[in-house]
Formats: sequence, C-alpha cells, structure tokens
Amino acid sequence: MASSPSSVASCCISRVSGDDSSEDNVLPETLQNQQIYLALNKEATEEELETAVAKCKELVLECDNLSPERKWLVRHLIELRLRLQEWREAKDDPQHPRNRSGISKRTIKGHHFVLQSIIKRGISKDCDHCTGTIWNFVQAWYLCDDCGFNSHHKCLSSIIRECAHVTATEQGQYEFKICPEIGLSAQKYKCAECKTSLPIALPKGILCFARYLFTGNTWIESQTRRCDYTGLYYCSGCHWGGEAVTPARIIHNWDFEQKPVCQATLQLIKVTLTRPIINLEKLNPKLFAIVHELDLVRRTRIELNLMRKYLLVCREAQKDHLLWKSVDTPHLIETTDLYSLVDLYEASNGELPSKLLNWASIFIKHIKETCEVCRGRGHICEICFNDEVLYPFDTSAVVCEQCNAVLHKICFSRTNECPKCVRIKKRLEKQTLYLYDDDDDCD
Ligand SMILES: [Zn+2]
Ligand SMILES: [Zn+2]
Ligand SMILES: [Zn+2]
Ligand SMILES: [Zn+2]
Ligand SMILES: [Zn+2]
Ligand SMILES: [Zn+2]
Repeated sequence: MASSPSSVASCCISRVSGDDSSEDNVLPETLQNQQIYLALNKEATEEELETAVAKCKELVLECDNLSPERKWLVRHLIELRLRLQEWREAKDDPQHPRNRSGISKRTIKGHHFVLQSIIKRGISKDCDHCTGTIWNFVQAWYLCDDCGFNSHHKCLSSIIRECAHVTATEQGQYEFKICPEIGLSAQKYKCAECKTSLPIALPKGILCFARYLFTGNTWIESQTRRCDYTGLYYCSGCHWGGEAVTPARIIHNWDFEQKPVCQATLQLIKVTLTRPIINLEKLNPKLFAIVHELDLVRRTRIELNLMRKYLLVCREAQKDHLLWKSVDTPHLIETTDLYSLVDLYEASNGELPSKLLNWASIFIKHIKETCEVCRGRGHICEICFNDEVLYPFDTSAVVCEQCNAVLHKICFSRTNECPKCVRIKKRLEKQTLYLYDDDDDCD
C-alpha cells in the first residue's frame, strides 16, 4: 500500500542523467585470440598499457565501421587511456586512491566522500562537479554518503558546491517565495553557482550566442538556465535541466508540477524529501479549508497524537511494539503541524489520509477493545453523567484545555463551562479564605 521512498522520490524529482545505465560489454568472440595484447587485467603495468593502446588502435582501423568489434574496441581504447592516465597521476600523488597509502575517505565542503570500489563495466555515472562521465571501471571516484554527490578523484579538490545535507541543516527551512528572481543583470550575467559568465540569450531569429565550457573531457555548449526554486540563473554545468517539485508552489498553490531546477536544488530537495520541516498551519492555514484531504489529515493527526499518549504508558502496547510496528513515519503522530514534502505529496494523492486512518483503527482496537488497562482509562462526561465511556480522541469528545477533563462536545457547547474547572476554582477560593482566617487568628 505505502509507496517505497524511491518511487515517491521519482514523483517529486527527476534527474536528467547521472543515473545508472547498464550496457553489455562482453569481449566479442572474434577478439578472443587478441586478449593477451589488450591488457584486460587490472594489474597491467604502464608498459603493458602503452602496448595495449597501440594494439587497440591498430585493431580499430582493421574493423568495419559499424561492427560490434569496433564498438567494443573503441570503448576499450578509452578505458585503456584513462587507466594509463590514472596510473601516471597516481605515481605523482601519494594521496591517490590507487596507491596503498591513498585515502579512502575525504571531507570536502561538508561532503563525506567515500572511495567507491570498481564494480563492473557498463555502469556509468556523471561527475557532479565536471559533469563528465565517470568511467568507474578505470577511474577512481568518490560518493558523498550524505547527499549522493558523485565526483572523480581528480575533481575533488576543485568542488565548489557545499554538501546539500549541510546546506539543508544550516538553512533549516525552504525558500517559500515562488521563484524569487533578481534578474540576469543583477547577477552580473554570471552563473549563480560557479560564477562563469553566462551567454546572453537574444530573441530567436536574431542571433544566438552560445558559450562553450570545458568539462574535463569535452567542450559542451553552455546555455543560460533558470532554477525555479532559487529564481537564479545558472550555466548548464550547474543546471542540467533536472526537474523537481518546489515547496513554495506547493504551499501557496497546492501545485505539485515538477519545474526545472539547478543541481544544487535537486540535491537539496532530494536530501530533505522526508524531513518534517514545513509548518503548514503557520505558512498557509487557508489551505486546510480548500483541500479536503489536508483537513482530514490534520484532524486524524490530532486524534493519533492523543492515542499515542495512551500507548506510550501502556505496558502491553510497549511489549507488542505497537507504535513502532505500525508507524513508519513517527513525526506524523509525535507532532500535529509539521509536514515533509513527501507527506504533502501523499496527502495530494490520497495515500496519506488512508495510511493515517489505518493506524487509527489499529490503535482504537487496542485501546477500546483488546487492552484492559487502556480501556479502563476512559472518561465519563461530568456534565451529563451518561454511561458512555469517552476517550479524548473520539470525534464526539472535547478535551478541556485547562484541566484535561474529557466531555461531550455537545454538552460542553451547551454549558460552555467545564465542571472540573469550576470545582477546582471553588476549592482554591475556599483554601485562600482559610488562609486569610489563619492570618486573622495570628493577629
Ligand atoms: Zn569530474
Ligand atoms: Zn554531500
Ligand atoms: Zn555554473
Ligand atoms: Zn493498552
Ligand atoms: Zn455529556
Ligand atoms: Zn476543565
């Protein structure tokens, strides 16, 4: 019933590239006899690699243009060259992960980078710094444990983007202005992240300038792109055209359409998807009146919060791990007003209300039916003294804010007075009276 985090993530964000893609890369049979010249083993020396590059080039020229052999050889040639390059870089750099003394963990700009093992051919990723492909079979690369930033080893020292996990924690809150644009000229025609000069987009048909950026392996055409979340303009190295829902549009317009965002925003949204940091009641209380599902979610959360108080002090419920077993997102019952982006998304598609109602029915069954201790902790309305046992989370009940007495909503609305509070007040008055009498005696 509940969707997995990754399927929810795909509804809230869509990356352009950088995802795994596998491709068959088996050595074609016709090349089997050349195997020994192609330095397929990982431990090949510099000399063996140089010979293999030469041999590979030779074989490429002998192959037909569109043959599978040629395709395989071209890819292998790239890999051999990259491996040779890595080999030479490692010789001059004692920290290079290829060396025994190399470092497998690095902390840079708040990222916690962990060296990735060379798994297998055919899985490719894009470097979040230079945007170039990471040939993970031959190139050393790192992954940030906290935000998923991928980086070549050679790019580590030039990374400028802070870890999204750190940014999210420091800011503590989203930008709630819809696309707060300041304009390209205010940005001095520079990319908001890397500060590269941006090409000025002219009306189509007149002239169109494009700037070319060097990204490690290739020159790519750079375009000016706006991020819907920050409202700022970026180069195509910092804004890949990925899309995400933007919190401001959800909060103000209940709009879940994905919009183009820069890579930093994409990572920020990704790491905060399930963080309950949106106080909807404060930000836009009108939304509850317009969106029926949200109103239902709010009411059910208040009831669940009251049920939770029963279960926390019940030994039976604790023994059965009732709370822990049923609830996968504790903040939904620990608080009543904080929402994560995923919560709001699931409220919009109806998944959240049915999930909450399901928890409520499990808890009610325990409190009112199966558990004697919880059942005994019900209340009798002190206004009508009817036999009906009342629980604070019942829709017909109201809880006195002063003394926590549980009364019928109808009874309370008629008298507008809580009998327990009246009693307490009278007792206090009496006590003060006695005190004054005592004072008089002393005099
Ligand atoms: Zn890179
Ligand atoms: Zn990171
Ligand atoms: Zn940039
Ligand atoms: Zn119980
Ligand atoms: Zn009553
Ligand atoms: Zn009261």
